[in-house]
Order: sequence, then C-alpha cells, then structure tokens
Amino acid sequence: MKRLIIAILVMVVCGLNVFGAEDPFSYPLGTVIIDAGHGGHDPGATNAWSFAGGTIYEKEFTLDIAKRLHALLAVSHPHLQLVMTRSDDVFLSLEERCSIAYQTPLQPHTSALFVSIHVNSAMTDEASGFEILTKTQDKRVTLLDAFTPIENIPLYAAHSQLSLNRLLNQRNLVVATIFEEAMDGSLVTSRNRGVKERDLWVLNGSRMPAVLVEVGFLSNEGDARNLVSPQWRQRMAQILAQAIEQCM
Ligand SMILES: [Zn+2]
Repeated sequence: MKRLIIAILVMVVCGLNVFGAEDPFSYPLGTVIIDAGHGGHDPGATNAWSFAGGTIYEKEFTLDIAKRLHALLAVSHPHLQLVMTRSDDVFLSLEERCSIAYQTPLQPHTSALFVSIHVNSAMTDEASGFEILTKTQDKRVTLLDAFTPIENIPLYAAHSQLSLNRLLNQRNLVVATIFEEAMDGSLVTSRNRGVKERDLWVLNGSRMPAVLVEVGFLSNEGDARNLVSPQWRQRMAQILAQAIEQCM
C-alpha cells in the first residue's frame, strides 16, 4: 500500500494522469477566440508603398482578415461559439485580449482555440512568407485559478497544473502543425517559414491552445501586394477557417 501511494505521488509530481481524467484539450472544439492584432493607437507594423497609395497598417489587415474569418465560421459552423477580442479599430492591451479568452465560459466537454492574426515586418525587404508561432514548451501556464469561470473548472480540476501544461503543449504542437500544413498547401506563392516557439503574452496568457499566425510581411513588396488585395485576404480567411475545421 505504501509503495502504491508513493507511486501515485511520483506520477502526480511528474504530471502523469493517474486517475484517467480526460484530456480537456482533446474535446471537440466549441469555442474559437479570434484575435485581430494591434488596433487603435497601436498600428502594428507600417510601411509605405506607392502601389498602395501610401502607408499601410498591420492593424487594418489583421482586423479585416479576422472579420472575414468570423463571417465564414459563423455560416459554416453556426453552433461554434465565436469571440472576437476586437471588432473595431480599438486598442486592447495584451492582458485584456488574454482575459477575454480565459474568462470565456466553455460548454461542457468542449475545448477552445485562440487564433491571433498578425502581419510581419523586417528591416530587409527580402524577408517574406508566413509563419506559425506557438507557445514555448517550457513556459508554464496557470490554467486554474480564481479567474477561471465556474463552468470551466470541471475541465481542469482532475489534473495537476503540470499535467495540464503537458497536455496543452501537446495540443499546441498539433494545432500549429495543422495551421502550417493548411497554409503551406494553399498559399503556393508564399514562403513557409515554419512553426516557431515564442514566449509571447497572448500565447501564454490565453490559457488555451493558441496559435499566432503571421500571414506575411508588410515590408516585402510581394507580400504587401497580397495584403492590399481583398481577394487574397478572403483566401487567407478561408485557409484559416479550414485549419480551424481540422482542429475540430
Ligand atoms: Zn503584430
């Protein structure tokens, strides 16, 4: 008996799921948090291009793609709970974006996904293409605390924080790979810069599986020409919707 208790304690300390509780991140996707990067007095990346008639702003493209994505998912998946961190040109702090995510009550036995949309920029105009950012695996996230909605407590209560972080990391890699493959197969003119781990506030603080998609570079002429095209932004929204469908 003593050995069994010690074994269970070791497993709990190591973050193993001793009581067979279900992985809360593998439940069917019921909620998508769509986060349009920047906004208001924070324009994000900017660049001036003569073909665009002047300066273009990251915050406008992220909001436009986010709205298109929301519209597509609302039609194709009417039962999905869709939450936009912003739907206008307003400033939101990173903390506010995260608290919108982790304070959203989830339906029982469903999971959530945080999708943050951004546009890249570089000192050189050579850099181009998309990349998928995911939380650094060794960054620990608090999933259960006083701010967790009552509805969401049963999702996490059967696990240790270590176990939840291990499961979250596993799910993050699956989700990031799904997004990378969806974009790689659909954006044939754009360079795939791959999946990268990043210690970013929204990826850690959203407390749920999360990706940050850098859809292209404002500082690259080819990418900037894509970004100013409504058809290209619609295509990007469709690809993101398809990736989200594959996460369901
Ligand atoms: Zn950005």
